[in-house]
Amino acid sequence: MEGNRPAWDTCIVCTQAKRYGLHIFGKFVCEDCEREMVATDVSDPRYRHYIECMKEIWLAALS
Ligand SMILES: [Zn+2]
Repeated sequence: MEGNRPAWDTCIVCTQAKRYGLHIFGKFVCEDCEREMVATDVSDPRYRHYIECMKEIWLAALS
């Protein structure tokens, strides 16, 4: 779309464009979600969403 887009990436967890985070096997997880994932309890409903997103990374890693 725009010509001078900054080098931001779209987080696979929150689907927002973020500046800082982790690139894992071509997938991007922003630092906010990374922190959230670590802090989220397994009984938290959000945890399942995180697992689903991490699956994408595993699949990318295996392909
Ligand atoms: Zn995120």
